[in-house]
Amino acid sequence: MLNLYDTKLIGSCTVSCIFVFATQLSLSLVPRFFSASPLFIKLTLSVFVLLAVVGFGRWCRRLIGVSASAPAFVFFNMFFIWGVYIGVIRYANSRCMDVVFNGVIVMLIIGLCSILSRDPGLVPYGSSDSEELVESSVLGYKADDESSLFLRRIRYCKSCKAYIKGFDHHCPAFGNCIGKNNHVLFMVLLVGFLAAEVSYLVCSSQFARKFQILHRTGFEINLAENLANSTMLFCLLQVLWQGVFLTWHVYCICFNIRTDEWINWKKYPEFQLIVQSSSGEGSAKIRFRNPYDKGILQNVKEFLSLKE
Ligand SMILES: [Zn+2]
Repeated sequence: MLNLYDTKLIGSCTVSCIFVFATQLSLSLVPRFFSASPLFIKLTLSVFVLLAVVGFGRWCRRLIGVSASAPAFVFFNMFFIWGVYIGVIRYANSRCMDVVFNGVIVMLIIGLCSILSRDPGLVPYGSSDSEELVESSVLGYKADDESSLFLRRIRYCKSCKAYIKGFDHHCPAFGNCIGKNNHVLFMVLLVGFLAAEVSYLVCSSQFARKFQILHRTGFEINLAENLANSTMLFCLLQVLWQGVFLTWHVYCICFNIRTDEWINWKKYPEFQLIVQSSSGEGSAKIRFRNPYDKGILQNVKEFLSLKE
C-alpha cells in the first residue's frame, strides 16, 4: 500500500518529468525558428524560454497544488540529454568519446544518488549527541553556550529545520544540505556536471558538423536533429552558469568561508570586527573579518582532509 508520502513523491516526480519534456520541447523551438540567428541571440531566447517555463510551472503549482521535485528535475533532464545522445548524437562520434560521455553520466547518477541520501553533518539540536559534541569541543565552551555552536561552524538550515556541521548552503537541486560530510562530494559533482556538459557539447558539435545541421534552415532539419541543436544550447547555458557557480565555490574554499557565512556574516559574531571611529565616541563600525582564513594552502588542505 502506498502511503501519503509515496503518493506525493510519485506526484511531484511525474510533474518534474512532464516539465522536463515541456522545457526541452519548448527549447527546440528556438533553433527551429531562429536557426540563422547568431549564437548569442539563440542563447538569450533560450533563457527567455526557460524563464517562461519556470513561470508557467509556478502558476501550475498554485493551480493544481502539486509542486515539481527539483532533484527529479535534474535526473530527468540528465536522462533526456542522455536519451538524445544515445538516439541521435552518438553515431557521429568516436568510440573513445562514447566511453567518456557514458562513463561520466553513470558516475553522475551514482554521485547524485549518494548526495541525496548522505547525511550532510546533521546535529540533532538539543539531543544528547549535540551536547556531547559541543562539550567535547577543543574550544572548551559549555554545551549551552551558543557561541560554541558558532565557533564549531554549526549552522541552522531553514529548509531542513536542522543544525548542520560546516553548513555551506541548502541545495534544492541535490535535495540536501551541503555540509561538512558532503561538501567534497558536492564539489566533485559540480565538476562532474561540467565535464558531462562539455563532453556533450563536443559530441553534439561533432554531430552538427558531420550532418551540417547548422547550415540548414530550421524546417529542413528533422525533430531529432533539431533536438540535438536545442540540447546543445541547453548544455551551453548550463556550462556558463555552472562555471560561475563552481568558481564561486572554489573561491569560498580558498578563503575558508561558507556561502551561508558570506551572505549572513552579520548574524555570526566571529565575523564581526568592531572598529571605533577616530572622530568620536559612539560611532563604532562593524567590519567583516574571517577568523577561519589561514592562507589558501592551509584552507584547501583543511577542506580536503575534512578537519574541523
Ligand atoms: Zn538543508
